[in-house]
Amino acid sequence: MKTTLKTNITVRDICDGFTYNELEGKWLFGLSGTLTIQPEYQRSYIYADGKRDVAVIASILKGYPLGLIYFNTVSPGQYEVLDGQQRITSIGRYMTGKFAVKDENGMEQYFSGIASDKQAKILETNLLIYECEWTESEIKEWFKTINIAWVPLNEQELLNAVFSGPFVTLGKSEFSNTQNSNIQKWGAYISWSALRQDFLACALDWVSHGSISDYMARHRTDTNITELKTYFSTVIDWVSGVFVDVEKEMCWLEWGRLYDEYHNTAYNPTKVSAEVRTLYGDTYVKYRKGIFEYILGGSIDTKLLEVRVFDDATKKAIYTTQSETAKAKSESNCPHCTMGHDANKSKIWVLADMDADHVSAWSKGGITDMSNCQMLCKTHNRAKGNR
Ligand SMILES: [Zn+2]
Repeated sequence: MKTTLKTNITVRDICDGFTYNELEGKWLFGLSGTLTIQPEYQRSYIYADGKRDVAVIASILKGYPLGLIYFNTVSPGQYEVLDGQQRITSIGRYMTGKFAVKDENGMEQYFSGIASDKQAKILETNLLIYECEWTESEIKEWFKTINIAWVPLNEQELLNAVFSGPFVTLGKSEFSNTQNSNIQKWGAYISWSALRQDFLACALDWVSHGSISDYMARHRTDTNITELKTYFSTVIDWVSGVFVDVEKEMCWLEWGRLYDEYHNTAYNPTKVSAEVRTLYGDTYVKYRKGIFEYILGGSIDTKLLEVRVFDDATKKAIYTTQSETAKAKSESNCPHCTMGHDANKSKIWVLADMDADHVSAWSKGGITDMSNCQMLCKTHNRAKGNR
């Protein structure tokens, strides 16, 4: 591993031959064509939020340091940016008139419109650049251990770097491409940012059943992504077929796992749709995201819905009434215990050893108020189950 610190490269040098393409996947070049600014393993340009671009230029104008930039020497005289791509791209975008920066009078100024001494100041700014001659595995190790980027790589970006190759390139062109017309449909079921690789991460998670890095390692040199695409669209088609109405809570559910568990079960979409609407209208359902799995599982596991429970005041009032009646009859205050034949038949439980139960189950229309509440000892409440 060899590194050399260079301090004589200026913004002017870097921007020489700078090419910019708004579409993703296009590499950008600078330093008279000897520098690849966006190598395959680098994330897409994600500074175009109108703030960070401007901050980079403002920093230069104020003489603030821009931080270290890392180049990797690919071959003699040929470099690619390991870290610093976004800062360099911001500079290049400013030079080529892609955005303006407010001057001291609050006026928006493009590069071509600012005073020539300011232009010169930017162009003559020296950058701090580490030139590295690293092997592929050293680069990967570096990416894994150091996160000095202004926007840290997320897990998928890191994996894309580690397993860079034709498969990742194809995967990104399908799943990280804002021009893909399927994105709107996918976005209903997956909370996403294409630039941050969420769809790709999701597709890989589904097809690999959670073993993303294994899958990427095995398919690294594949020249097609047929299996990945097919599996992903199969899951999406299944979800949109079972649940015909799109609800915002559907976003980012574990659709891959739900597909695995339930895709062999038949559903009637009309009935499903009616049930979804009923549950959405039920004020006792606290966790709407659970509605979909609840229905897929046959509308049995009410735990998924976090159905509103009886409040402490109700429990205490019912406990007191039940206990007084029970004491008068020398019976247990748990109605189920009274039906038994052991010592608990006449046991008076303390409040802490009892739980509230829906007399008529919530799933069968029983409501959560005092008229439908009884206290049972913990054993009997558990035996009755969460219905
Ligand atoms: Zn009991």
